[in-house]
Amino acid sequence: MLMITIHNKNFVPYISEEAIKEKVKILAAQISKDYLGLNPLFIAILNGSFMFASDLFKELEIEAEISFIKLASYKGTKSTGHVLTAIGLDADINNRHVIILEDIVDTGKTLHSFLPQLHHSQPKSIKLATLLHKPEALLFPVNIDYLCFSIPNKFVVGYGLDFDNLGRNLKEIYQIEEA
Ligand code: 5GP
Repeated sequence: MLMITIHNKNFVPYISEEAIKEKVKILAAQISKDYLGLNPLFIAILNGSFMFASDLFKELEIEAEISFIKLASYKGTKSTGHVLTAIGLDADINNRHVIILEDIVDTGKTLHSFLPQLHHSQPKSIKLATLLHKPEALLFPVNIDYLCFSIPNKFVVGYGLDFDNLGRNLKEIYQIEEA
């Protein structure tokens, strides 16, 4: 793997395709074990999680369903504040075992605000699986149940994650090169 340039920024190879594959396989095996017979419903948050969701789903050894959503934010009333709405949630999560699939938990703001909203629909359980987590960047408490990689607080691209819409197609994960 060689250094790459996207929008005039340099990125260096950070996590190889093989390392990602291996971790995703381990995670899928763990989830398959934990959810045997429970027909969990995966909810993948687009755009960033599409590759992770696809690879993880292929590796599952149990019956499971998947749905894809986008999160859109808008300014609510004074009392509701900043609100996130899920676009495209076509599955009924009431009484279901739900596993959220996210690309990266950075400050935790997105999920800290979105996860409590899902509880209103009274699922049987909600767990979170994320490909990446930057513990040093966390500002809002988020409980991560399944994690592939804990990474330093540096911007990354590839394997579904973008830099200004580019880089999502990279098979491996690259880290920004600091000047
Ligand atoms: P949070 O709400 O946890 O701060 O941010 C989550 C979202 O920010 C992620 O779903 C992702 O879209 C974006 N994000 C955070 N860190 C990175 C990063 O290093 N690279 C890319 N490409 N996106 C990031």
